[in-house]
Amino acid sequence: MNTLVITIDGPAGAGKSTIARELAKRLGFDFLDTGAMYRCVTLAVLRQGVAFEDTERIARIAESLQLEMQHGRVTMNGEDVSQAIRQPEVTQHVTRVADNMAVRSVLSSLQRRYARGRRIVTEGRDQGTEVFVDSPCKFFLTASREERARRRWRELQQRGVATTYEEVLQQQDARDARDASRAVGGLRIAADAMVVDTDGLTTDEVIDQMVQRVRLEFPQLVSAADPRHAVDEGQEV
Ligand code: C5P
Repeated sequence: MNTLVITIDGPAGAGKSTIARELAKRLGFDFLDTGAMYRCVTLAVLRQGVAFEDTERIARIAESLQLEMQHGRVTMNGEDVSQAIRQPEVTQHVTRVADNMAVRSVLSSLQRRYARGRRIVTEGRDQGTEVFVDSPCKFFLTASREERARRRWRELQQRGVATTYEEVLQQQDARDARDASRAVGGLRIAADAMVVDTDGLTTDEVIDQMVQRVRLEFPQLVSAADPRHAVDEGQEV
């Protein structure tokens, strides 16, 4: 089967995960959450008490991890870490790991390997600009910083994490600045990406817009698509 990759990049809180997962389902593509991969490495680093400055050791940790994405769950060395990688401590430190060029290289290779021979929707920061530059179909999802922080705050409230909207906004601004300033893998809009502003739109409205574009502009991407709903089939990354 030929490899087909749809990329979705954008800042934190733009709704990428939900939207990418649902778009994949609608098209019968597999789904790859690359942020989860950076989060797994961060969790492993925190657990092992390794200093973030020890870039070589962290790259070796990244290489050694067995990561699996299965039915919306993330497994690291056989352990379900889906909840653990969303903890504020991981969110707070993940950019330190994402700044590590050796880690980026390891994870980018894993992402390309995962895509080989598949049809996938992949989401992250650098998917359209660096990892899959040749992808014919790129999206950049965004929303205002206030809206993104509100969404994140509501999500944390629902999970019982005690925090204020102001705190979430402040941490988000810090992460945005760091993600944008990274020389390699920094958040940029690919010249050939379609920008979708999700402010004031429901998830369904956003997905409808995206599906419409894919069907119109890239009929070859969907005509051959297998109509199965084969999201997250438990493939090792
Ligand atoms: O998307 P999510 O918030 O889970 O991503 C966590 C962090 O991982 C981001 O803030 C970013 O620093 C990093 N990341 C990245 N490249 C990607 C995906 C995520 O640098 N492709």
